[in-house]
Amino acid sequence: MKVYIIGAGPGDPELITVKGRRLLAEADVIIYAGSLVNPALLQYAKAGAQIHNSASMTLDEVITVMEEAVAMGKKVVRLHTGDPSIYGAIQEQMDVLAAKGIEYEVVPGVSSFLAVAAALKREYTLPEVSQTVIITRLEGRTPVPAKEKLASLASHNATMCIFLSVHMLEAVVAELIAGGYPPDTPVAVVQKASWPDEKILRGTLATIASIAAEAGVDRTAMIVVGKCLDGKYALSRLYSPDFGHMFREAK
Ligand code: SAH
Repeated sequence: MKVYIIGAGPGDPELITVKGRRLLAEADVIIYAGSLVNPALLQYAKAGAQIHNSASMTLDEVITVMEEAVAMGKKVVRLHTGDPSIYGAIQEQMDVLAAKGIEYEVVPGVSSFLAVAAALKREYTLPEVSQTVIITRLEGRTPVPAKEKLASLASHNATMCIFLSVHMLEAVVAELIAGGYPPDTPVAVVQKASWPDEKILRGTLATIASIAAEAGVDRTAMIVVGKCLDGKYALSRLYSPDFGHMFREAK
């Protein structure tokens, strides 16, 4: 018996993978991150499945539940929001499981930064605007390595998706401007993308902090920064008639 570490997706219960949903339906024991995983996903659990909310548990407690369940031949699902590899704190879980000789498998999920692009109906990688997406966060209780400070990442003027930082939006804006984004750079703040109460705020680096404060958005939101949010870009070569490639000749 294995432990399955599964990405639950950004909120909408239909945005879990087919594999994730199947494993959730088969699980005897489910441990979900109650602070962010939509509890509506638990509707896929079978009757009688044992369900734990990890919001009130320590890592040791989570591991103990897993260990005891696996020892009894039970199938365990650990459900993380979005994709587990991004700010999921799963490495320490996996390393403890490996040390204990407990088998595990990771099933990826739709990360919230992707659901945010869908909500905004924007493409992050526009020709001649940006071909790079930076996923990062402002330093909080978790330190950020010196070479990855927001201000230094800002110097690229690439598309940036900033997690875990909306409650410090003013500090985010100050670092981004100090790092070299013009103050009129478009910014979107998307709260609870793909949830029924999704909220989208738009502004610029100069205006977004007061817009978010007024709207009372200070948690579970993504900050997206960059000119990809604006109108102008070069057309993609991929679908242009004079651009041939492996699957289509140029006309
Ligand atoms: N593993 C998750 C991220 C966990 S960190 C993922 O791949 O998405 C939690 C942060 O993710 C939040 O502070 C917020 O910045 C972002 N987040 C999670 N769900 C979100 C959603 N539905 N809409 C917008 N941001 C979200």
